[in-house]
Amino acid sequence: RLTMLKLLPVRRVLPTAEDTRAFGGWLATLMREGDMVILTGDLGAGKTTLTQGLGQGLGVRGDVTSPTFVIARVHPSLTGGLPLVHVDAYRLGDTAELDDLDLDTDIEEAVTVVEWGEGLAETLAHSRLEISLERGDDDVRSLTLTPVGPRWRELVF
Ligand code: ADP
Ligand code: MG
Repeated sequence: RLTMLKLLPVRRVLPTAEDTRAFGGWLATLMREGDMVILTGDLGAGKTTLTQGLGQGLGVRGDVTSPTFVIARVHPSLTGGLPLVHVDAYRLGDTAELDDLDLDTDIEEAVTVVEWGEGLAETLAHSRLEISLERGDDDVRSLTLTPVGPRWRELVF
């Protein structure tokens, strides 16, 4: 059996917002249908910025903005790729299931990004990539990846 190439660093410094966006774009190239990414980090840590890069990489329609005031927003792909489902877990609460949201897209056929997913990540998906964004001194951000399940463990070094 071939050893999988590990493609994602467990930790990465993101000096600028453009780096955060570029990381999201890189992540998009690795995405398969049904994938779930859980983003945690304080307000302003860069969660939405990373999601914008991911959406751009997937070629989706519509501005990716903080999903405040809606629980989830579906961005269809313009390029025949995977749609992006962008979820605000804060509004989702801690008991709801994504299945109950009645999205017009099957998340098994999309890439789902949940902002503020900490705590309910476990209930949302067994296989998931958890990304924690941190804002340090001088406004520099860094991210830490926690792969959960074999799919993501194979990709993170
Ligand atoms: P969140 O969704 O976590 O609240 P945002 O993605 O909305 O955070 O980012 C808040 C602000 O921080 C934005 O103005 C964005 O451009 C900026 N930002 C994001 N990543 C970085 C970074 N790596 N370095 C500096 N500023 C960043
Ligand atoms: Mg946000």
